[in-house]
Amino acid sequence: MSNLQIIVPVYNEQEVVDLFYEEMKQTLQTCDVEWTILFIDDGSTDGTVQHIEFLRHKDSRVGFITLSRNFGKEYALTAGLDHADADVVVVIDVDLQDPPELIPQMIDLWHEGYDVVYATRKKREGETFLKKATASWFYRLINSMSKISIPKDTGDYRLLDIKAVRAINKLRESNRFMKGLFAWIGYKQKAIYFDRKKRIAGTTKWNMRKLFSFAVDGITSFSYVPLKFATWIGVSVALLSFVYGLVVIAKTLLFGNDLPGYPSLMVVILFLGGIQLMALGIIGEYLGRLFEENKQRPLYLIDKYQPPNQRDKDDV
Ligand code: UDP
Ligand code: MG
Repeated sequence: MSNLQIIVPVYNEQEVVDLFYEEMKQTLQTCDVEWTILFIDDGSTDGTVQHIEFLRHKDSRVGFITLSRNFGKEYALTAGLDHADADVVVVIDVDLQDPPELIPQMIDLWHEGYDVVYATRKKREGETFLKKATASWFYRLINSMSKISIPKDTGDYRLLDIKAVRAINKLRESNRFMKGLFAWIGYKQKAIYFDRKKRIAGTTKWNMRKLFSFAVDGITSFSYVPLKFATWIGVSVALLSFVYGLVVIAKTLLFGNDLPGYPSLMVVILFLGGIQLMALGIIGEYLGRLFEENKQRPLYLIDKYQPPNQRDKDDV
């Protein structure tokens, strides 16, 4: 029988871990696989770790890694994937927004030969109009700017064959835009569709500021197009200035010069000043990331690691 490992990053989720475990167990019992669950505690400051340790105590198919502090979901996920030990892995959020019921279908597709099966949302319940709109612009923007295509409305919830996991684990960049990495590796990928539910309890860890920086991370790690922006604007401004220069010369020759033009001068100076600062800012975004990568720091640090065991005979 194949081995399946569920990889779950958790951060301050004491309200939901037990519920998650129960629901997950129910679903997994209907699947024809041996399974284990690996929780990665991303530096929770509430009782999350105690809840997980208790689950482990009851069921040794539950394992966990605790990180030394909060590194962020991408890093927690990376830690989990680095320690994945099974034939096939499912990455899922703990808040049950990603329904475990999809797993049997994912496994079937895996048996059919797909290496990556990702779950795409049909509906985004419990999200504001603003979040939906910005999300949709983001996907359009990043896909128009980068060579790989990142599936729209797809979170991290997916099944990965162990060879896809190994491929991901080879990508050690510290700027971890997981959606991009998952797309970058290739392999036989397949989408399935579902309605994303509201969180069952607890609160989302995202806010607009974090989402914005997430979007910038995504774009800068998968596209150089913004860097070319300065070149394009520069070329177009230079062409326009050339034409305008001809106009000024012709005007002076024909009508003489009575020194007008203060407003137009201001406009041009301010416009170009703005563009230059923006271009510098863009270069700064890339430079900063280059600096981060260059430090070659470990992506996460582990405090405790308790690997899950395959099924014990005594727990049913
Ligand atoms: N998470 C994490 N580290 C963080 C923030 C979140 O491991 O710094 C986990 C969280 O516990 C959950 C998943 O990542 O299992 C998704 O988080 P959340 O539900 O807040 O994101 P959303 O569903 O709103 O995108
Ligand atoms: Mg969530």
